[in-house]
Amino acid sequence: MGWSVNIGTIAGTAVRIHVTFLLFLVWIFVASYMSGGPQAAWNSTAFMVLLFACVLAHEFGHIFTARVFGVATPDVTLLPIGGVARLERIPEKPQEEFLIAIAGPLVNVAIAFGLVAFAGANLDARHLAAVESARISMVDRLAAVNLFLAAFNMIPAFPMDGGRVLRALLAIRLGFVRATEVAATIGQWVAFGLGFLGLLYNPMLIFIAIFVYLAAASEARLVSLRAMSRGVPVSSAMVTQFVTLAPEAHIDEAVETLLRTNQSEFPVVDSGGRLVGLLGRGDMIRALKQLGPDARVAEAMTTQVPTIGYRQTLDEAFRILQTKSAPAVGVIDAAGRLVGLITSETLGEMLLVGEAMPKGYRLGPWGRRAA
Ligand SMILES: [Zn+2]
Repeated sequence: MGWSVNIGTIAGTAVRIHVTFLLFLVWIFVASYMSGGPQAAWNSTAFMVLLFACVLAHEFGHIFTARVFGVATPDVTLLPIGGVARLERIPEKPQEEFLIAIAGPLVNVAIAFGLVAFAGANLDARHLAAVESARISMVDRLAAVNLFLAAFNMIPAFPMDGGRVLRALLAIRLGFVRATEVAATIGQWVAFGLGFLGLLYNPMLIFIAIFVYLAAASEARLVSLRAMSRGVPVSSAMVTQFVTLAPEAHIDEAVETLLRTNQSEFPVVDSGGRLVGLLGRGDMIRALKQLGPDARVAEAMTTQVPTIGYRQTLDEAFRILQTKSAPAVGVIDAAGRLVGLITSETLGEMLLVGEAMPKGYRLGPWGRRAA
């Protein structure tokens, strides 16, 4: 995620803080300084830092459980709205998704009960209503806010943990795709409910409702995309008409190519037809500015472009595209030569085609019934 600062690594997962989160802390400090002086300012800032330590512990609940099932967890980012732990894939086994999703809220429940048992925290519903008040002791507020975090995350709608728990439970009987559709529909009704409550009580809820509604829709689309592309060979959806660049070509030649085509990503191919890199529009402009028009394509290109064999399936290509967050996946033949590209545009087109396609119709050579 752009605009975030790496603050260290915990057990092999990088911890990043988004710049807006740091601004948020400064804002809390200044706002409470103006209303209550330096004491209040330090007090509220310390509370926010502790609160986000709890959010981080929640994310590590997901991370450690995911690792048990062999899912890689490269980083976690703290935003003002909460934490986001990046998992390289979502397990399709319902039991695994259930445990990974519920582990986060359980960490907050454990912290709340730990504070009650060992720090003498007093759990009182009134503390939650006055959680920003400095008159209530720090431990009481932290205990209350951890229970709130657990409850809030268990709202049964994507992208909340509760949505994933719900899908996992449904998937045991309905299968992953159908379970996602049902969970997304329930999530959208929950979003309507939240939005309605927001109109009556708290406008913040309206924003959360919109966020939840959109997330539910995109999760459902993503899963149907995965189901639709499963078993479809990459060769039947890949882009085959594209212009390539040679690594020894100059940047000004690359720019000319950019201008006369409507491509924005150019595969760089050596004399043997093998993919050696990728040069995007952004790379070109940067190279032109920093290295000048005489620089070589090889100096400006991204190397290590993910590739996939042309006999593999489209869902595998989409998985690589998402987990590597690469602009394109190269499709190569048995001799290692580049024969096609799968890009995020392919993904978007597949979604459009999928929505318009008659039910049961499959892409690929066997899609059309014999006449
Ligand atoms: Zn969570």
